[in-house]
Amino acid sequence: MLIKRDKKMVLLIEDSPTQARYAGLLLEGAGYEVMFAETGTKGIELAESEQPDIIILDVVLPDIDGFSVCRRIRQRSLLYIPILMFTEQRTDIEDKVDGLAVGADEYLNKPFDDREMLARVASLMRIRGVIENLYSRLTDGEQSYQTLRELALTDRLTGLYNRHFFVEELNKQFVLTQRYITPLSCIMADIDFFRDFNTRYGHPAGDWVLQEVSCLMKTQMREGDIIARYGGEEFVVLLPMTDLKGATELAERLRMQVEERVWEHPSHGALQITLSFGVALFPAPEIKTADQLVECADKALYQAKNNGRNRVEVYAPANV
Ligand code: GH3
Ligand code: MG
Ligand code: MG
Ligand code: MG
Repeated sequence: MLIKRDKKMVLLIEDSPTQARYAGLLLEGAGYEVMFAETGTKGIELAESEQPDIIILDVVLPDIDGFSVCRRIRQRSLLYIPILMFTEQRTDIEDKVDGLAVGADEYLNKPFDDREMLARVASLMRIRGVIENLYSRLTDGEQSYQTLRELALTDRLTGLYNRHFFVEELNKQFVLTQRYITPLSCIMADIDFFRDFNTRYGHPAGDWVLQEVSCLMKTQMREGDIIARYGGEEFVVLLPMTDLKGATELAERLRMQVEERVWEHPSHGALQITLSFGVALFPAPEIKTADQLVECADKALYQAKNNGRNRVEVYAPANV
């Protein structure tokens, strides 16, 4: 995450108090906020915790030398912080080359010319600005991708997954189930006499019921279960690693909870709702494809409707 500040911040890693004060005053006078570190270790810590915009780094320090400090800051792969190294004791070409090789962006001799120092700091701040800009565009892009993905996979009214996502997930789980020979169960559920409900209480009340029922069912799911709104007032649940017994128990629990709950509608008062359920399991001799698993659950649901609604039926070829 980027830290937002009013002023650009310079981290000055310098062990000499006199020189730190001098450079500090110069930078503050130019409108920067300055943070001081008198050792290499402290500098590395502050670079990480405070995320300065740029770092000015002395080469000769009491604990670790500036080259190592520079290398370590680069290794920790923070959002790129430009580094200016400066020293008075090691001013030959080789040191400059070494400094740049370990990741410094500028190398300046001491005593420095004030104007040159400020010009180089300004140039590094410009580079930092470009980096921040790119970074926020990348992260904004990532966020909008996530939002779009969520919108594309979930149902607006209920917040459950939509049919599209369900089918994708079903196909994936079906392949896994075949490979590892684990049970995969499917439950189809449909609200009973919902057309009549809408006629009596109005469509908005019907929508409210869909939301409330979705909420209740969601709380009963375990991690790995997938519940989706399959159609208008039809729900589908996919239960990886769950056998017929487990799936039937869940369906029965859901059925009972919906039946027993008093649905207190803000303007219509206490309402009663029931759901019918169909359960199917893979592997089963007559199921060869993922689609057939859902079809079988649907056939069992049809059976539940025929047998009087508000009940759970299990798919078995003999009784369909
Ligand atoms: P059954 O017990 O046989 O399921 O009877 P039913 O009346 O519920 O019949 P069906 O399952 O075919 O119900 C479809 C009805 O569900 C049509 C429509 O009135 C209602 N419905 C479907 N989608 C929505 C929705 O998004 N909002 C509302 N309020 N009602 C919906
Ligand atoms: Mg020094
Ligand atoms: Mg219905
Ligand atoms: Mg229906």
